[in-house]
Amino acid sequence: METGRRMKAAVVKETSPGERRVALVPDAVAKLQQAGIDVLVESGAGDGAWLSDAAYADAGASIVSAAEIHRAADVILTVTRPHPDAVGELRAGQAVVGMLSPLADPEYAAALAARGVTVISLDGLPRTLSRAQPMDALTSQSNVAGYKAVLVAAGEFGRFFPLLITAAGTARPAKVLVLGTGVAGLQAIGTARRLGAVVSGYDIRPSSKDEVTSLGATFLELASVGSAAGEGGYARELTAEERQAQQEELTSHIARQDVVITTAQVPGRKPPLLVTEDAIKAMAPGSVIVDMAASTLGGNATGSVPGQVTVTGNGVTIVGAENLAATVPTAASNAYSRNITAMLLHLTRDGALAIDTGDEIQAGVVIAHDGRIVHEGVASLLQPVEGDPGVDGTAD
Ligand code: NAD
Repeated sequence: METGRRMKAAVVKETSPGERRVALVPDAVAKLQQAGIDVLVESGAGDGAWLSDAAYADAGASIVSAAEIHRAADVILTVTRPHPDAVGELRAGQAVVGMLSPLADPEYAAALAARGVTVISLDGLPRTLSRAQPMDALTSQSNVAGYKAVLVAAGEFGRFFPLLITAAGTARPAKVLVLGTGVAGLQAIGTARRLGAVVSGYDIRPSSKDEVTSLGATFLELASVGSAAGEGGYARELTAEERQAQQEELTSHIARQDVVITTAQVPGRKPPLLVTEDAIKAMAPGSVIVDMAASTLGGNATGSVPGQVTVTGNGVTIVGAENLAATVPTAASNAYSRNITAMLLHLTRDGALAIDTGDEIQAGVVIAHDGRIVHEGVASLLQPVEGDPGVDGTAD
C-alpha cells in the first residue's frame, strides 16, 4: 500500500568487540521496499558476515556513512547496542530496533529515551506467543550458538566424536553431556549426535525430557532434585539446598563424560553453578567443558572466564564461551535478519512506526517511546532514588 510516505530503515555497522553479525542481509531489502520501507546500509556493515556493500546495493539499498544514517534514518536496525558514543548522535522521533538488553542495562535505554528515541528490543518478545515466533531472535541466535558450542568442544577435544573403526584401530565415541536443554542445549544435542557422539542431556524442567530423547539422546534424571519449571517455559532459581543436592548428584555423572556443554540460565539471575570444582577434579585429563553461560557474574562451571580457554591442573579444558552466534556470522545474520524484518513489518503501518503497547508483542518489546520508558519491567529497575527526576529522562 503506497501512501507517498516512505520510511527509511538503516543498518549500522556493529561496534561491539568481536561482533561480526549484521542486522539485515541483502535478501531482506526487497521485502522491506515492497512494504514502503527504503533501506540505508552503513558502508562495511555486512563485511564481518561476508556480505559486501555491492550485494546490498544490488538488492536496492543505498550505501551511506554513519553520519548520513544518524541524519536521515527513521529506524536504526542493529544486532546489539549501538556504541554509547552514537547515542548522542540520535534524535527525537528516531527508533532503534535490536537486542538491546534493557533489563541488564536499563540506563542505556533511559539515555535513549532521554533523547526522545523509541527503543525496541527483540529480547523482550513474548516467546511463547505463536505469532511472535518469526521475530524470536533469542531462539534463532541460541540455535546458532548451540551448534557452534559443539564445534568448539570438538576442536578442543583430543579425540574423535564418532565411533571410528579403521585398520589402525577402533576409536570409541565421545561421551557428551549437555546441561540445560533449552534452545541452545537441544541444538547442541542434535549437533553432537550428528558428529557421532553418545549424548545425554539434563534439565531441571522435566518437560524437556521428550525433546531430549526425540533427538536420540538419553535424559539424565536426578533423584535428589525435582522439577523447577518456572514461568513462561523458563526455569526458576533453585533453593540453596536444591542447588547443593543437584551439584553433588551431577558430579558423578560429569566425571564419566568426555565433553560437557552447559547452557543453563534463569532469566534475570546469575547462572546456576552446575559443574563444581570437585566435579572438574573428577574428570579425566583431556576432557572439555564449554560453558555457554560464562559471564562476569560467573557461569555454570567453576573457573570459566568469558572469552577465555583455561586448562586446569588435572588437564580439563574449560572454554568460557562468549557470543558464539557472532562466530557463525552469516547463518546468524540470515536468521536475525528474518526476525528483525518480521518485527519491523509488525510495527509499521503506512510507512511509519505505529506504536501500540496494547498489542501483546509490542508490550514486550517497546521499551521507550515519546521520551519515556514505557516498559514496566525496565521502568521498575530505574525506580527513582530520592531526589531523582524519574525514569523518563526528562528531568526539569
Ligand atoms: P534459557 O536460555 O533461559 O535456559 C537454558 C536452559 O537452562 C533452560 O532449558 C532451563 O530450564 C535450564 N536450566 C536453568 N536452570 C537450570 C538448572 N539449575 N539445572 C538444569 N537446567 C537449568 O532457556 P531458553 O533456551 O531460552 O528456553 C527456555 C524455555 O523457553 C524452553 O522451555 C523453551 O522450549 C521455551 N521456548 C519456547 C518458545 C516457543 O514457545 N516458541 C520459544 C523459545 C523458547
